[in-house]
Amino acid sequence: MSDIIDRANDQAQEELNRNLAKAQRFDMPSLAECVECGEDIPERRRRLGGATRCIDCQSAIERRR
Ligand SMILES: [Zn+2]
Repeated sequence: MSDIIDRANDQAQEELNRNLAKAQRFDMPSLAECVECGEDIPERRRRLGGATRCIDCQSAIERRR
């Protein structure tokens, strides 16, 4: 009985990992321009991946949290 549950859990975990990997591939590319103010996002920052805001807007948001 527990074997079946373990296997089901493994499959659910694998499925989750696959979905996460897929979601990351779509979310990761950085934008060329900040979504807040439209300023160019510096190349240095874009290379980190997933950047959608310039440094000013990103730090303003992080300060608000
Ligand atoms: Zn900005």
